[in-house]
Amino acid sequence: MVAEGAAASEVDDSPIARSMEKNRRRQRELTQERLPRPAHTRVLTIANQKGGVGKTTSTVNLAAALAMSGLRVLVIDLDPQGNASTAIGIEHHSEVASIYDVLVDGTPISEVAQDCPDIAGLSCVPATIDLAGAEIELVSLVARETRLQKAIAAYLGELEDDQQPDYVLIDCPPSLGLLTVNAFVAGEEVLIPIQCEYYALEGLSQLLKNIEMIRAHLNPGLHVSTILLTMYDARTRLAAQVAGEVREHFPDQVLRTTVPRSVRISEAPSHGQTVMTYDPTSSGALSYLEAAGELARRGAAETSTTQETR
Ligand code: ADP
Ligand code: MG
Repeated sequence: MVAEGAAASEVDDSPIARSMEKNRRRQRELTQERLPRPAHTRVLTIANQKGGVGKTTSTVNLAAALAMSGLRVLVIDLDPQGNASTAIGIEHHSEVASIYDVLVDGTPISEVAQDCPDIAGLSCVPATIDLAGAEIELVSLVARETRLQKAIAAYLGELEDDQQPDYVLIDCPPSLGLLTVNAFVAGEEVLIPIQCEYYALEGLSQLLKNIEMIRAHLNPGLHVSTILLTMYDARTRLAAQVAGEVREHFPDQVLRTTVPRSVRISEAPSHGQTVMTYDPTSSGALSYLEAAGELARRGAAETSTTQETR
């Protein structure tokens, strides 16, 4: 008995147990904090034409973190892969009404959005495989670049004040085609996730050029408001180098928080979840909570209203 007790206390005092306890405490602190509501709905497009840089992961986990901090969040899945829909745990097989119907047939967003089963305040417009054809179908439609913008405006217009989402996050496909153009026209802010690896900055100038073009012709308010460094591996000098370089170029946009490379983050979608519910005290979940806090505080800095005034 004594030996067992001693073993147990040894385990409890191990570095892993201490670090888990610290994470639990941090998670409690972060989720108890109510984040400020923006004065108006913030529409953020999460874009980077490179695939696999963490767009979808960042969209769903930031959305979940914002919702868990008391805000109302709508995710729009604009990638035919439907990975954001999967992670949020909503149906998106080919029979489900989706963003395709919104863009091509003008179906209202309110008719296709679904609530996340796990997280209050979070809903999502799903993407189905139909969306793969939309890029081409949109070409022949009138006002093809502004269809998402109009759908979002109509949606916000039909909601009561206390039902307005605080955030709309749009998860883009890995291309700069008409779907991404629709996203750039729909919101004023772009959030770019950058993977802290070699070639991270490759393609960034093309993305910035496209954003500039949209700003000049279609959406004068469009700007890159936020850059999030993802898949950061603190053990490699390369990650620190890339992060340093990005911070130097974009001192005002890069969030202080970096998202670590974490197995738990990559496992969560196969359980139909975000890491925020799959493993709430993991380092990945904590980093997305921290990043969401920064995002919300920055955006609300000028024209803040607190949640109490809702
Ligand atoms: P994108 O949407 O830009 O194509 P994803 O968000 O789908 O990128 O991420 C690409 C892959 O990397 C996915 O398998 C995802 O689970 C994984 N991943 C994303 N972020 C992390 C991370 N911080 N740690 C570990 N794996 C990650
Ligand atoms: Mg994606």
